[in-house]
Amino acid sequence: MVIDCHVHVCAFTPEHGKMSQHLLSTLPFRFMRWRLGMRGSDAQTERDLEATMVQTIRDTPQIDAVVVLAFDAVYRDDGRFDDANTHLYVTNDYAIELCRRHPASMLFGASVHPYRPDALRELERSIAAGAVLLKWLPIVQGFNPADERCFPLYEALAHHNVPLLSHTGGEKSLPNLDTSVADPMLLEPALKRGVTVIGAHCGTKSALGETDFLPQWEQLAREYEHFYGDTAALNLPTRCYAYTRLLEDDLLRSKLIHGSDWPILPLPPLRLGVGRCVAALAEDNWLKRDVQIKECLGFDQDYWLRAGKILALSPSPLQGEGRGEGRSSRSRYA
Ligand SMILES: [Zn+2]
Repeated sequence: MVIDCHVHVCAFTPEHGKMSQHLLSTLPFRFMRWRLGMRGSDAQTERDLEATMVQTIRDTPQIDAVVVLAFDAVYRDDGRFDDANTHLYVTNDYAIELCRRHPASMLFGASVHPYRPDALRELERSIAAGAVLLKWLPIVQGFNPADERCFPLYEALAHHNVPLLSHTGGEKSLPNLDTSVADPMLLEPALKRGVTVIGAHCGTKSALGETDFLPQWEQLAREYEHFYGDTAALNLPTRCYAYTRLLEDDLLRSKLIHGSDWPILPLPPLRLGVGRCVAALAEDNWLKRDVQIKECLGFDQDYWLRAGKILALSPSPLQGEGRGEGRSSRSRYA
């Protein structure tokens, strides 16, 4: 099975989460909404986005399924829900609902803020509902992965063999609360407890002037057998510098997992040459364009199959009948 482990969804109704007015007004989100033809910010917008996702995956035959990521709200240090600082919020229940409606093409990526009082219960509930990973974005959600409040979650993830997908390095599309927690080294307590950890974006910079955490990501990748990195958003001009290092080293290549960061815009790196850059830009489907660019970069079969192996996809309540059927037969890699 070929899996894209990093796909986002947005919520526009209070039952499903929230998107702040501030976020809706930022340039990247206005561009994304325009590009995806999204109008308004209500229940209809959610249904339109869902339909767009389904069609986008269907039109990307190289991919069997994507992990749809929930995105937990911000919680303060004292454990209280922080509405003012929450700009993107997608509940686990909404992500579960989407995956139940589209069991052949969507897998549930849970998100649980470790400082919320019911964190462990919510994680256990998510895993029981079929979560294939736990997703964090510490610099935006405002917590430190090395904080001891995370440790019970690590024990649970290790126990259930569910990987942690945690953002490493910079991020500019969402407001940052604490950039000091961008360092992949803060994930060591999870690794020491046996959790399979995927450092999203391999610690790369998302803009000039940020600290480059690719060296720290590399250090962990060499040190821990169960530490990986995803290729989400590496097709951005600010992050694609990492390909030079990642593709030249066999060990680092063996640590890469496919992720797109859809609906983030993928742009072909200039190293592909003008002809292939122009061809890639002609592809309107960004999920597919991201795959095509990575095919041109020479990612091998092991890379495309790695996410499915690392996520240890096992039968779950979400999958039901028809799990992977129909789509896996379309895959060129399976
Ligand atoms: Zn992302």
